[in-house]
Amino acid sequence: VPYTPNPARYDDMTYNRCGNSGLKLPAVSIGLWHNFGNLTPYDHMKQMLFTAFDNGITHFDLANNYGPEPGCAEKNCGRLLREYFAAHRDELIISTKAGFEMWPGPYGDFGSRKYLLASLDQSLKRLGLDYVDIFYHHRMDPDTPLEETMGALASAVQSGKALYVGLSNYDGPTMRKAAAILDELHVPFIINQNRYNLFDRTVERDGLKDTAHSLGKGIITYSPLAQGLLTNRYLEGVPADSRIALDPRFLDDSALTPERLQQIRELNDIAAERGQTLAEMSLAWLLHDGVVTSVLVGASKPQQILDNINTLHNTTFSDEELARIDAICLR
Ligand code: NDP
Repeated sequence: VPYTPNPARYDDMTYNRCGNSGLKLPAVSIGLWHNFGNLTPYDHMKQMLFTAFDNGITHFDLANNYGPEPGCAEKNCGRLLREYFAAHRDELIISTKAGFEMWPGPYGDFGSRKYLLASLDQSLKRLGLDYVDIFYHHRMDPDTPLEETMGALASAVQSGKALYVGLSNYDGPTMRKAAAILDELHVPFIINQNRYNLFDRTVERDGLKDTAHSLGKGIITYSPLAQGLLTNRYLEGVPADSRIALDPRFLDDSALTPERLQQIRELNDIAAERGQTLAEMSLAWLLHDGVVTSVLVGASKPQQILDNINTLHNTTFSDEELARIDAICLR
């Protein structure tokens, strides 16, 4: 059955300019880190991408190693793109990354030119695409000269295999140095992808947020819901269909300390006062000061995607609300 996307899909989504670039991204984007590997039925993945695209989410984020098994998310996404989205390729922003371990030996990890360009070719094959819209270096590599890694990103663009490049998990000072190199090479470096949520304010401390803003680079925030902690998911225990129960590779029940649960409950009360779910409020908080381009959510169900988009109905906070939220999160 062919897929006919919702004709009204662009009506309600907000599109934010990515830094000073020409590219606009949806304020809510979807990531395929979890729930697109070999643990999830194909039809379920399909319903999630349909729900996303039908509601104006034009950006799907991947990396070489997303799975399980590594590479599976790109393979599954590639099949979905081929079977259902082929007519809509030019309406989509597909990103991928290299920087974490992908294959054995010294050439399948970190930041060498050897690794990045080989990995991009592999990603394009799995995705069945000629190019990705954004290619990221996935993490800082202190042992490879920044010139080499940035040179590889430049080659990705020059060869037509990526339209734009991004940096992920960089801190402010390193990103500033990388940006200077990329400027010199005339590479369209437009975006930073970092973890940022109510519980993790690292980008405010390491200079990434301020530096990106002052250099006119976009920011897309990953794990904006702290992998599900900043939602109503764990208020009454660990549901059998939750990430902690099903796929605890990166989030297990050691995260649910009594202190954490108390914070989540108090934040949930503030969200309720605002007439939002905790997920909506957590995303709204990230968007409220206008510096973040897009919040990059994960989802295990189409309904979560719809809930997350609802955040756009109220992204303003009173000073009093902000202070109450900080008093809970930063204690
Ligand atoms: P989130 O913080 O958005 O967590 C997603 C999880 O939260 C879902 O799987 C679901 O958990 C739960 N959830 C989502 N929406 C709701 C809702 N409305 N109500 C209740 N629960 C909800 O993001 P992720 O940690 O998944 O990361 C998002 C994306 O960011 C990744 O897919 C990836 O693209 C990117 N990323 C990038 C990294 C990098 O190094 N660059 C690192 C990590 C992620 P449940 O399964 O329990 O239902």
